[in-house]
Amino acid sequence: MAQKKSPAPARELLFGNLWEFDPAPESASPNIDSRYDLFINGETVAPRSGKYFASTSPRNGEKLAEIAEASPADVDAAYKAASLAFPKWSRLPGAERGKYLFRIARLLQDRSREFAVAETLDGGKPIRESRDFDLPMAAAHFFYHAGWADKLEYLAPGRKASPLGVVGQVIPWNFPLLMLAWKIAPALACGNTVVLKPAETTSITAMKFVSILSAAGLPPGVVNIVTGAAETGSVVVGHPGAAKIAFTGSTAIGKEIQRAIAGTGKRLTLELGGKAANIVFEDAPIDQAVEGIVNGIFFNQGHVCCAGSRLLVQESVTDAVLRRLKLRVQQLRVGDPLDKNTDLGAINSPQQLRKIQALVKCGLHEGADMYQPEVSLPKTGWYFPPTIFSNVSMSHQVAREEIFGPILSVLTFRTAEEALEKANNTRFGLSAGVWTEKGSRILKMSGALKAGVVWANTYNKFDPSSPFGGYKESGFGREGGKHGLLEYLQLT
Ligand code: NAD
Ligand code: MN
Repeated sequence: MAQKKSPAPARELLFGNLWEFDPAPESASPNIDSRYDLFINGETVAPRSGKYFASTSPRNGEKLAEIAEASPADVDAAYKAASLAFPKWSRLPGAERGKYLFRIARLLQDRSREFAVAETLDGGKPIRESRDFDLPMAAAHFFYHAGWADKLEYLAPGRKASPLGVVGQVIPWNFPLLMLAWKIAPALACGNTVVLKPAETTSITAMKFVSILSAAGLPPGVVNIVTGAAETGSVVVGHPGAAKIAFTGSTAIGKEIQRAIAGTGKRLTLELGGKAANIVFEDAPIDQAVEGIVNGIFFNQGHVCCAGSRLLVQESVTDAVLRRLKLRVQQLRVGDPLDKNTDLGAINSPQQLRKIQALVKCGLHEGADMYQPEVSLPKTGWYFPPTIFSNVSMSHQVAREEIFGPILSVLTFRTAEEALEKANNTRFGLSAGVWTEKGSRILKMSGALKAGVVWANTYNKFDPSSPFGGYKESGFGREGGKHGLLEYLQLT
């Protein structure tokens, strides 16, 4: 009898470097103006400072447009307009407010290709993501909240729900238009008026959105958009005319804001940073888990507050998971975000690139093992390859700090208790993932994880009806769903 052969190693089909893909750039025109002014009281107005700053494309470092820098007097004018618009807007029947939101949602859908290209050019995310995620989700948020506008009385039966007044909203650069939608849609559905400040590196889609508000016939002053950087942001947050501040951004700035408005009586919601654990048990379907790990950390180059940046994998399957993960990462296409084949686009800004580089250096210095696939990055623009750190321990910076880039830190565990202990041992608490065949384990883990969102056998799934928000230093308050609406209402 022939001797039994050990099974041949599984063969892999690797398409990554076998051949060159022809360029497949998205061709829709982004219709970007050379200069954008402020949007106050239904009109575009030049900033009183007379100052403008450049918005560049991280794809190649080219200047796209000039953006107005709002001074305190401009922010004041925006609050005045919002305050004057409030009585009429808040007293409109909900069904009427809903009609405006429905119109905005449909107009966004009509122009979604154009907006997707503008978003990708200005922020650097792959066109596939802005086309298939940011734009449809932004429209979905307006549709969802349009439906609520005339049903607010069902949110808290037996109580009266009234709008708060003028709300000041400050958003980050990682999902520029989507964060705008998360902020504006619930505020308007509830009858509030808005002063919003986009992030300084990604103001273009917010300013393009102005033309949608005008086409929808939204009354002047209901939404005002002021552009600028930190200084303008702190004026928006500090203005006495704000009944509520809604902020999405870094934990450091969130803390500053909380201190700045303490004692003013302003309502506050903070959506801040994260360092999510994506937990893979030995009974998980490995191929699916690997897809979830990749989506969890490399979606939007890892510029995602709820990114699965800490992979916790059960010791018995660590080698198998890492092997498959590295193979999968070799197939990711990094490069021109405007190309429809691109998986990882450009890093949003040179500052963010430097922050990523510094933390990666720190990971190497602390003794973690680094893996990067061979990729050739574009010569101009800001890029970073997908990176996996293994042999990471809980004390390493790369396991504790939010990197906000395409960097995964891999830690291991033996028991569910150890996984929980490690997952919760962080100052953040925004999201988590659990991969296992066992339903009871999913329920146990999701109950014990200190995270606002827990995904089971999937990752980065969003729906306007599902509340999103944090624990601990990831902030407080929820966006989306009934919970999100209640943040914009006063119950009596
Ligand atoms: P950031 O805090 O630097 O800036 C966010 C916004 O705040 C920008 O518009 C900025 O101009 C403004 N700002 C800066 N200083 C300010 C101040 N003193 N007062 C008022 N406004 C000020 O954050 P970022 O680098 O733009 O965004 C990345 C961060 O945002 C990450 O930490 C990420 O986790 C977090 N984020 C959280 C969520 C969430 O929902 N929890 C979503 C996206 C991003
Ligand atoms: Mn830009």
